[in-house]
Amino acid sequence: KYLPSPPETPVLVNSSLTDSSPSHEEPELLILEQEELNEPPLEVLPDDFYDQFLSQSAKRRKASQLRFLLPLEKTPGVISLLAGKPNPTTFPITSLSFTTRSPFDPSVSSTIKLEGKALNEGLQYNLTSGLPDLVSWITELQERSHERKAEEGWRVSMGVGSQDVISKCVSALLDDGDSVFIETPAYPGIVPLFQSMNINIIEIPTDSKGIIPEAMSEILDSWEPEKPKPKFLYTIPVGSNPTGVTASGKRRLEVLALARKHNFLILEDDPYYYLYYGKAPRPPSYFTLESWDRSSPAGRVIRFDSLSKILSSGFRLGFVTGPLKILKAIDMQTALSNLQASSFAQAVCLAILQSWGYEGFYAHTLRVATFYKERRDMFVSSMERYLPGLAQWNVPEAGMFIWLNLLVPPAPNCDEPDSEQLIRTKAFAAGVLAVPGLYAFPLGRINSFVRVSFSLLEQDDMDEACRRLANVIREAQDD
Ligand code: PMP
Repeated sequence: KYLPSPPETPVLVNSSLTDSSPSHEEPELLILEQEELNEPPLEVLPDDFYDQFLSQSAKRRKASQLRFLLPLEKTPGVISLLAGKPNPTTFPITSLSFTTRSPFDPSVSSTIKLEGKALNEGLQYNLTSGLPDLVSWITELQERSHERKAEEGWRVSMGVGSQDVISKCVSALLDDGDSVFIETPAYPGIVPLFQSMNINIIEIPTDSKGIIPEAMSEILDSWEPEKPKPKFLYTIPVGSNPTGVTASGKRRLEVLALARKHNFLILEDDPYYYLYYGKAPRPPSYFTLESWDRSSPAGRVIRFDSLSKILSSGFRLGFVTGPLKILKAIDMQTALSNLQASSFAQAVCLAILQSWGYEGFYAHTLRVATFYKERRDMFVSSMERYLPGLAQWNVPEAGMFIWLNLLVPPAPNCDEPDSEQLIRTKAFAAGVLAVPGLYAFPLGRINSFVRVSFSLLEQDDMDEACRRLANVIREAQDD
């Protein structure tokens, strides 16, 4: 029934929904029978379903006729006088070689050489959605990782990092006055985008099991009937930035049921998907879950992946996966803004992925996840040494962040402890920095939390950072 995964990869199984480990809840509600081998084909929402969600500007936007003719160049026998492509014989690079670590054994290195067609593709303009060979490699990756067949109403487009396609998607969906659900604390790098829009932001709280669906259903149940419902939920289900929390399978199913009942989309921002190192199997993505329950059509989930955390953040490559109509709206923005993600980065990335194959890719991501698990353990040991009684924390099962509650009293003239003040003044002066929790709340909320990242530091620096933070907190407690 399930697409094969390499043995060591955290495997997607239904049991991840019924798991009873601390981060995953009671089984009863969750038994989704996937036994029927003669399962009917997955029904997907029709193209015109998305008209109610697209922003006016996305609807008005005309395709760049030129960019949309470009794919026809690939038709065999066609002589193209179409594109203003520079002639590659005038380019200075004639061959490119680089050394990579083996995904199976990092002590073994091998050389990848890009020349001929592979190099030319990297040096030339290409399709808006990405280099076709990379797009098809990634499409198959999505099929393998999320158990969805590509012909079932979705496709993939490359972006300049996932940030690029997230922000294009948000502006392809929202008009002035629209409502949205944003899971909070939210990714501080995207919060200003939502804040800059003239929209009705509804923050949905999270706890150690991820987003709290009841908070959403309460709001929806008392929603004024004539007011348009929120268009989408923006959520980070794995190793959230900034909390480090991974949403349980049960919570995800409840969110999906609400999306279906109240007709909103789910923007699944999942750059830490492959950085999962929890004991229980990784809960299936929203993109997977919406295809499991065949009683409702699929097509509500728009998924964002990033190559930043697993291949290199300097590539600036990410991708969006979702319904054709939404992807077309995103591509139309790309065609008018940056034309496409860098062909060069895509060609290098493709060469690496092709040399590894899917087995190599999963082996590599498993190694990366294991690396961050070790870093997490190191950071937790530093916190345990220096911060008891001074801060509280969660122990994440994915990603590279810990959400630290600083046990400090409220600042003078303030109801709440203010971690931002503390970081900007005393912590910085003491030689330690972290992201103030304030930046994770689009509606602004002074609070006592900070986001700390354990991705880069060695044990000595982790210890020293926690020691400095401890001094700052102690001083604030004594004030
Ligand atoms: N979403 C989240 C939750 C992130 O943490 C990040 C990177 N910090 C991004 C999106 C953007 O990643 P990318 O490098 O792919 O643009």
